[in-house]
Amino acid sequence: MKEIKQTILIVDDERINIDLLTEIFKKDYILLVAKNGKQSLKILEKNAVDLILLDIIMPEMDGYEVCKQLKENEQTRNIPVVFITGMSEEEDEAKGLELGAVDYIKKPFYKPIVKCRVETHLALKKKSDMLEHLAAIDGLTNLYNRRKFDETILYEWERALRNNSQIALILIDIDDFKKFNDGYGHSLGDYCLKQVAQKMKETLNRSNDFIARYGGEEFIVILPNADIKGATYIASSLKKNVEELNIPHKYSKTSNYVTISLGLTVTTPNQGCKSIAELIEITDKMLYSAKESGRNQFKLTLI
Ligand code: GH3
Ligand code: MG
Ligand code: MG
Repeated sequence: MKEIKQTILIVDDERINIDLLTEIFKKDYILLVAKNGKQSLKILEKNAVDLILLDIIMPEMDGYEVCKQLKENEQTRNIPVVFITGMSEEEDEAKGLELGAVDYIKKPFYKPIVKCRVETHLALKKKSDMLEHLAAIDGLTNLYNRRKFDETILYEWERALRNNSQIALILIDIDDFKKFNDGYGHSLGDYCLKQVAQKMKETLNRSNDFIARYGGEEFIVILPNADIKGATYIASSLKKNVEELNIPHKYSKTSNYVTISLGLTVTTPNQGCKSIAELIEITDKMLYSAKESGRNQFKLTLI
């Protein structure tokens, strides 16, 4: 497998420094360059960056301020920052490290040392990314797990609050799945779960739409910015696409094939549902109602 190159952002107001650093890293990494603090923050909004080489003395916003803002932002706080600076006093270095930088390199620098130090930090970044990924994934289905759901719903709830926008939640449960396991055996049950999960993941098309395995044979979907029409469309597509997998289920009371039931809530946070817990509770009730009404269907609330 081809290794994906990591990305370094160089932030410096002087051409000569940019050129020197580019020379060291251009062969092995993707390089982005910002000539001041503000520009660096803009670049970080749109690009995934693995390490930042940050000058301190720059007009308008200095490197300390940039670092401070990065560490306060959830999206950027885990990107390692290495100061590369002409400020050579020990207090300057202490200040940089206290702000959360992983390293502090003084100018003029010796190229091989900069290269080695940066490579060490990038290797660590790669490992911590991998761990974070593993901690967020369900091993059987490869979907996100419940832990990641808890994190994501909090983020999306708060975002919807800020933007005064709607959010939809869908809870999904496979129908008569105990009978599937009892009838066909647990390993076919596992295989069925994987197929259903994969198909549902494929059904979601917007980049912020999120799906996780919520429990045994339960799944949960977050649709940020979804109105009732969009959310209904997704819920019925999920139902239809799973049914069209045509996974035989001769032990089901509901159908000859594997089907799902869904509960769906569309709300504007704090105007409708007052909390995430309430949103989940209402959605769970909708799922229960779909089961009660005969399964292989969805029930929704707009609140
Ligand atoms: P309902 O239509 O009301 O949802 O009925 P059900 O049988 O699907 O519901 P119930 O909650 O009674 O059963 C869920 C079953 O899901 C029980 C368990 O054997 C199965 N299950 C949960 N996790 C896994 C898993 O990881 N692999 C397999 N193969 N089965 C699982
Ligand atoms: Mg269940
Ligand atoms: Mg079930």
